[in-house]
Formats: sequence, structure tokens, C-alpha cells
Amino acid sequence: MTARLIVDFARCTGHGRCYSTAEDLLTYDEEGFVSVRHEPMVLDENQLPDAKLAADACPELAMRIEYGTESP
Ligand code: SF4
Repeated sequence: MTARLIVDFARCTGHGRCYSTAEDLLTYDEEGFVSVRHEPMVLDENQLPDAKLAADACPELAMRIEYGTESP
């Protein structure tokens, strides 16, 4: 199983709560938006807990985790 962290580009308003909550997983771009806004992030099992916390912290519901069965 694979998991990807995906940000809805249009919904992300750059609050920064996601990368503040998951500092070891996420960072931000020069405009203060989470950097995965530009490209989905493939997650390994160890990263999933932080990714879930980050997604739950987003007030815009802009961040989600998608699960698939294909190889990363
Ligand atoms: S994904 Fe959500 S919490 Fe993260 S920067 Fe965008 S709007 Fe803010």
C-alpha cells in the first residue's frame, strides 16, 4: 500500500498550522505555503502519524491523505 499527502492548491491559504504541527515532516515555500502544495508527498509508514496530525490541523480542510495499492 502507498500513501500520499496531497494539498488542494486552491484551498490552501498558508496558515502554516500543518507544518507547525508536523515540523519534522513538512516545510514551507518562500510565500509561506506548505511546500507539498506544489507536489504530492509520498509517505512511508513512519511518516503517517505526523501526516495525519498535519491534515487534522488544517482549518481549510485543504490537506488529505490518499491511499493506493500501486508502488510509490
Ligand atoms: S495546508 Fe492548511 S494548514 Fe497547511 S498551509 Fe495550507 S491552509 Fe495552512
